[in-house]
Amino acid sequence: MSCLECNRPLNYLDHRQSMERFKAALCESHFKRVDRLIRQQGIPEAAVVLYYGLKEAGIPSMLAWWDGKKTVDLAISRVKLNIEIDRGHKPLTAEQAICELESTMEAFKNGFTTIRIPELLIRHHLQDTIENIRGIIEGLKANIKVV
Ligand SMILES: [Zn+2]
Repeated sequence: MSCLECNRPLNYLDHRQSMERFKAALCESHFKRVDRLIRQQGIPEAAVVLYYGLKEAGIPSMLAWWDGKKTVDLAISRVKLNIEIDRGHKPLTAEQAICELESTMEAFKNGFTTIRIPELLIRHHLQDTIENIRGIIEGLKANIKVV
């Protein structure tokens, strides 16, 4: 097994630690880099899991993408798709929901589509999630061509 980012061979412990946490093979230095990103940008671990899942499926995305106003968990820029991970186990308050709606609207005005994916789905149904995102990308591409 080697690191998905730099191809450096992994030892058993590094491999196990990064597979358990991110479902992706990362060497010690890339593991630390991702860990730092999570702490500094406040993105959820599930965003990293999805990022590497998409990468392995041949769908490049950007992790913790700054859109000018806020950090988006994941973005697929060529089709202007923002992906936010829904980490809420409890329901949103009305105020939070309005806030989310406003930020979706702002992004939409700039041509960005925002989808929200529950953390649980990424943890337990990663491949189905990725296939659906692939479908959304195809749909967005078709729409871009029409416009
Ligand atoms: Zn590496």
